[in-house]
Amino acid sequence: AVPLVVAKSTALSAKNGLLIKKRTDFENARKITTLVFDKTGTLTVGKFEVSKIVVLQKNIEEKELLRLAAALEENSEHPIATGILQKAKDLSVIIPAAQNFNAITGKGVEANVEGNDIKVVSPGYLKENKMPFPDNYNSDAAETVVFVIIKNNLAGYITLADTIRPESAEAIKTLHDNKIKAVLLTGDNKQVAESVSKKLGIDEYYAEVLPHQKLEKIKELQNKGEYVAMTGDGVNDAPALAQANVGIAVGSGSDIAAETAGIVLVNSNPKDIVNLILFGKATYKKMI
Ligand code: ADP
Ligand code: MG
Repeated sequence: AVPLVVAKSTALSAKNGLLIKKRTDFENARKITTLVFDKTGTLTVGKFEVSKIVVLQKNIEEKELLRLAAALEENSEHPIATGILQKAKDLSVIIPAAQNFNAITGKGVEANVEGNDIKVVSPGYLKENKMPFPDNYNSDAAETVVFVIIKNNLAGYITLADTIRPESAEAIKTLHDNKIKAVLLTGDNKQVAESVSKKLGIDEYYAEVLPHQKLEKIKELQNKGEYVAMTGDGVNDAPALAQANVGIAVGSGSDIAAETAGIVLVNSNPKDIVNLILFGKATYKKMI
């Protein structure tokens, strides 16, 4: 049976944007009862565009906030960083160098720019550090938001929007037709997670999830008897990908994610995962 499966999985990967690294993961795909998706770049296009720059201090301009944020983001490969850098480029901002750059895992970035400590961070980071949200801040808006902190003072925030991939809704529907649950696990804020879930008919979502919590969430689902596949892209996702019954790295992500996962989703297209599951079911039905 092995050569047949190898041949089948090779054919599948060639045609359908999948790289099957561990044959057991292809074999196990037919048993999946829950598919846990990351959001950015898998269910969405993964291209963040800056929609708003809001300044909260009198002595500073929008472009200055962007300039400082961009200095930090030049050191990051997060899609948020790409969006902020694009905006800086569009506005011809000259980006200064940043010293002592540090990524705050799952929460943002920090560095020193021109002698000042700057942070660009998530809403979760503000809550955790008991920094009050700005008065006029609309936390109901379904947008990604990062806060800019200058010398421990909240200086403003930048909102960014991403687009849902055209294939995502159909992928979720096909999962449901096959009695497979769709779960969203994201580091992004609750409003964005809720909005994407509603639009796509996702069964459950978990927002502001930190990297180590992703691993816990996979275990929790498994303890409930679910057979779990998970998609992920970042270095941070590697432990959870390894824990999942089927780990799927998305193509544009980090090398470490791709090393950990049994399957690589070359085009980051959620429909390819669904096809993998259906193809696995069909292959093994024929073989029995
Ligand atoms: P996900 O992979 O689900 O997007 P991450 O753990 O990568 O989650 O990021 C979680 C949150 O941390 C982001 O939504 C953002 O608020 C913040 N964050 C992460 N990286 C950056 C960055 N480079 N710049 C600004 N904020 C960031
Ligand atoms: Mg990530």
